[in-house]
Amino acid sequence: MLIAGNWKMFKGPGETEAFFAAFEAPEGVEVVVCPPFPSLVAAVSSGRTIYAQNAHWEPRGAYTGEVSAEMLVELGVSGTLVGHSERRQLFGETDETVARRARAALGVGLGVIACVGETLEQRESGDTELVLKIQVEAIAFAVGDHERLVLAYEPVWAIGTGLTATPEQAGEAHAFIKELLDRPVLYGGSVKPENASELLAQPGVDGALVGGASLEPDSFAAICRAAASTS
Ligand code: PEP
Repeated sequence: MLIAGNWKMFKGPGETEAFFAAFEAPEGVEVVVCPPFPSLVAAVSSGRTIYAQNAHWEPRGAYTGEVSAEMLVELGVSGTLVGHSERRQLFGETDETVARRARAALGVGLGVIACVGETLEQRESGDTELVLKIQVEAIAFAVGDHERLVLAYEPVWAIGTGLTATPEQAGEAHAFIKELLDRPVLYGGSVKPENASELLAQPGVDGALVGGASLEPDSFAAICRAAASTS
């Protein structure tokens, strides 16, 4: 089981140090934290496994506002998220750029958690599998079933909304994704200490990508404990 915390644009270096001073993870679960770029150094010094939230596909160049995978390696970062729905919806990320980011990060030895998922409109119009197929196949075409690649199924309608997929909806989507690409699949979308055990017990759910509930050391540790006891 892998539990990854996506901090989004929360926690500068000071709050990051305070988080790790208070955070205690149980044995028997792999834990990853994804802080914003300015907090990566503070996070790496905790000794925990740290991923970035994004990485560019070129090693260097005229790409204002971007950070390369090589730079992350130099900092001691172990991997990166790619294709989070907030990047896709708010910052013009496409299947092509997600695939290029994943390929570059894996190419320099980083781990990658690649996010896929449908919007509410797509689910309601019966297009969930079509959308997942297009998103997963773009990643599969670029990197195949790479051993450091993990996928995250994050239904967009469940992110930060308090709505979660039912364990059955998550199970169905995970099975579908695994048929397309045989890699571990995390579930993401309003995972909390109260619902983690039930979601993680679902066949095909190999862990969780946690946003809001990863910001407090106690709630994130409680989700990690739920994973450890489900493993
Ligand atoms: C996320 O940011 O990937 C996420 C799943 O957020 P939340 O847990 O807050 O829904």
